[in-house]
Amino acid sequence: MIDIDGAAGEGGGQILRTSLALAMCTGQAFELQRIRAGRAKPGLMRQHLTCVKAAAAISGAEVTGAELHSQTLRFTPGPVRAGRYRFQVGSAGSCMLVLQTVWPALMLADGPSSLSLSGGTHNPMAPPFHFLERSYAPLLRRLGAASSMTLRRAGFYPAGGGEVDVSLEPAGGQLQPFDLLARGERLSSQAECLAPGLPRNVAHRELEVLAQAMGWIYDPRQVVPLRQNEGPGNALMATLTHEGVTEVFTQIGEKGVSAETVATRLVQELRDYLRLPGALGPHLADQWVLPLALAVWQRGLAASYTATALTPHATTNFDTIQRFLPVRITTTASTDAGWQVTVHP
Ligand code: ATP
Repeated sequence: MIDIDGAAGEGGGQILRTSLALAMCTGQAFELQRIRAGRAKPGLMRQHLTCVKAAAAISGAEVTGAELHSQTLRFTPGPVRAGRYRFQVGSAGSCMLVLQTVWPALMLADGPSSLSLSGGTHNPMAPPFHFLERSYAPLLRRLGAASSMTLRRAGFYPAGGGEVDVSLEPAGGQLQPFDLLARGERLSSQAECLAPGLPRNVAHRELEVLAQAMGWIYDPRQVVPLRQNEGPGNALMATLTHEGVTEVFTQIGEKGVSAETVATRLVQELRDYLRLPGALGPHLADQWVLPLALAVWQRGLAASYTATALTPHATTNFDTIQRFLPVRITTTASTDAGWQVTVHP
């Protein structure tokens, strides 16, 4: 039984999701205390509970403490079963975080899986659908685990109701770790805006501010066609495709925040990324480490990546990963390049 302190580091939901994912990948049980102690409303919220239930469903785990607001959880996984699953958050909580929880275990399972997920697809403080599809999934494919994702219906806070289908192919043998040290040449920069159920000028104002600040060309076709009833909701996205990696940056609009402010926040994120040469942006840097560490563990080969920033999310994730896997994660920083992270067997 591995004891995990949910108050460690930045004390959020990632400690839970990483623990669930790696418990299933390694067959180790854990007890998590002080769940999300670093948050204003600690304990399991609805989307965290859905992650626990989804993990239990695919691994036949014995679980105690799987209740709303619970601050302690014991999770003893059984063998992971590939198959067809439906996971519903039942609120606008992110169903993409549920996917992030079960994906590593299912990619190591012995057959293909198909998932239908419902809940939020574009939430603040969670990986949006397009980020997982364009940034994360291609990197997993390079490790050896193919997948495809379909956005059937977008879901935003507070209505939720998003629908996503995912097919996951098993890696079939060991994952192949690789270095990701440079992003390579830029191949394209693409702006898009989701704004279902909102006045059309919201999307246009956001795209115009973004295009002007970045020196990009504004095109009304960058407003993604969605049904009125998928909203109201707003996500402004910029996809930067480089030879070595695709990054998707997203700002979620909210009531009381002007379209110009949403766009200006995205411009700042883009400038922060473009100022430094690191391959990965801050979100990918905290999420990529888990699948990479699995590959390093399986093959016994070290692998590295560079990133423009390492957030407390990333360093907390490094600590949790090292509790479950016999790997060592080291970081070095330089002012002109950002960070280099190495996962050692
Ligand atoms: P809480 O901490 O309240 O439990 P949570 O369960 O939503 O919140 P966090 O611990 O905040 O989880 O983790 C959120 C995850 O979502 C992190 O991996 C973070 O990198 C990722 N994320 C947040 N915003 C984005 C974004 N715009 N693009 C990609 N990933 C994102």
